[in-house]
Amino acid sequence: MTTTTQDTPGGTAHEPSEIRFACDAMCGGLARWLWGIGYDATWSPDIDDGDLVRQADAQGRVLLSGDGGVFERRLITSGQVRALLIPRGLRRLEQLTYVVEQLKLSVRPPRCMTCGGLLQPASREEVAGEVPARSLDWASHFYRCGQCGKVFWEGSHWRRIGKVREAAANLSGPAAPQT
Ligand SMILES: [Zn+2]
Repeated sequence: MTTTTQDTPGGTAHEPSEIRFACDAMCGGLARWLWGIGYDATWSPDIDDGDLVRQADAQGRVLLSGDGGVFERRLITSGQVRALLIPRGLRRLEQLTYVVEQLKLSVRPPRCMTCGGLLQPASREEVAGEVPARSLDWASHFYRCGQCGKVFWEGSHWRRIGKVREAAANLSGPAAPQT
């Protein structure tokens, strides 16, 4: 099932049903949490609305924006680009909750919280030089980001992500009623 490959310019392979996102410049925190629940989301701090809409169109991404102006663009009003307006005043985890509820997202294996890349399991030996000795001793699972190379293990940071993931999973649980 986890045969998704890296997102690389010019060559993208993904399941057709897999929903992917393009976040506006203000939604960086939301993008990170989407990575945390396993979704492909692009984010750039200085992308302008035109580029964002074109990117969503070219890559088949759902555009997430807190800026109502974006929604007047033709590619969106015509329905060619799917987009979701993130209500103002929500904090980032509330934004995540909103997106999960609106789009009935299920929680997937986490991606890299630094760049959004896919994480690959790594052996203790492979990461020995990059993980503090104590963590190397007690952690049982290690992962390496296939995109930026960062190593993750199940420490306190992972547990914190775990709580958010659990909350998101409860929202989108199997018995989510149709509205
Ligand atoms: Zn990464």
